[in-house]
Amino acid sequence: MSALLQATGLVKHFPAGKPGLFERAPQVVRAVDGVDLSVAPGETLALVGESGCGKSTTGRLILRLIEPDAGTILFQGRDLRREPPARLRELRRDMQIIFQDPFGSLDPRMTVGRIVAEPLVVHGVGTTAERARRVAQLLERVGLAPAHAARHPHEFSGGQRQRIGIARALALDPKLIVCDEPVSALDVSIQAQVLNLMLDLQRERGLGYIFISHNLAVVRYMANRIAVMYLGKIVEEAARDDLFAAPQHPYTKALLSAVPEPGSARAKQRIVLTGDVPSAIDPPSGCRFRTRCPHATETCARLEPALTPVADGRNVACHLVTPPGHA
Ligand code: SF4
Repeated sequence: MSALLQATGLVKHFPAGKPGLFERAPQVVRAVDGVDLSVAPGETLALVGESGCGKSTTGRLILRLIEPDAGTILFQGRDLRREPPARLRELRRDMQIIFQDPFGSLDPRMTVGRIVAEPLVVHGVGTTAERARRVAQLLERVGLAPAHAARHPHEFSGGQRQRIGIARALALDPKLIVCDEPVSALDVSIQAQVLNLMLDLQRERGLGYIFISHNLAVVRYMANRIAVMYLGKIVEEAARDDLFAAPQHPYTKALLSAVPEPGSARAKQRIVLTGDVPSAIDPPSGCRFRTRCPHATETCARLEPALTPVADGRNVACHLVTPPGHA
């Protein structure tokens, strides 16, 4: 299937303050350092990894909420970084975001009706009456009542607020939604309801999702494919079932070892990583994971492993899995 979105070589470095007395250049945080990914219509690609690995920044780069330093973003074959502003604005209608925090992401002074209608107003869609009808439909579709349009966000629970956020994201009938930790602020009892709503909407509308989460149980429920990020790079990318059945990269193995196996009485052997995640200002030479990898060799310090296709259509960046020079 042709890609809805194809990003290649995405890079984003943030300034990390002024240079020190003996430093020539300002330091930079290498938040995203050469990420390739693609999403097909109706597909969910999950981005996973520890906090600070660059997954949320990647989501924002794709929507150009943050400007990439380098890379190409093709959306339905159009290069988002080369489109003139008017055309980019049009394309943006098809790309929306659901934020993590259903409390902070809704303006408390606005009614729910105004919040959900805002994208329609910004893009000049419909008359006032048409927008009100659309808001009522959207609220019903996400499990709320049309009468809720007159209320304010503080009158709703966390799960209901996230439903409002979803209604707003759907207002312009997008094709791609970046979902940034969409249920991590919700009670566990509510999470499944919101996830099921998102799956239903995806099936109905053929939505592509980029699903950003640190919760691997949630990712297992939602994703078709999973990209594992470490210090600004993708280290493994595979179909969900392949990744959970047989992770290849040592970092993926450690991450997945903490996830209980559903229906299995046998406890998994937990791989506990030692050491902290290194600073993204000064990442380790060679393989960025080498300071925590139990299999690191001298080659790993010297040569950076490229993300390389291996069996079953997955890509892995590790000299153990794809020896240096192998492509
Ligand atoms: Fe570990 Fe080396 Fe593979 Fe990196 S390249 S994950 S350090 S074995």
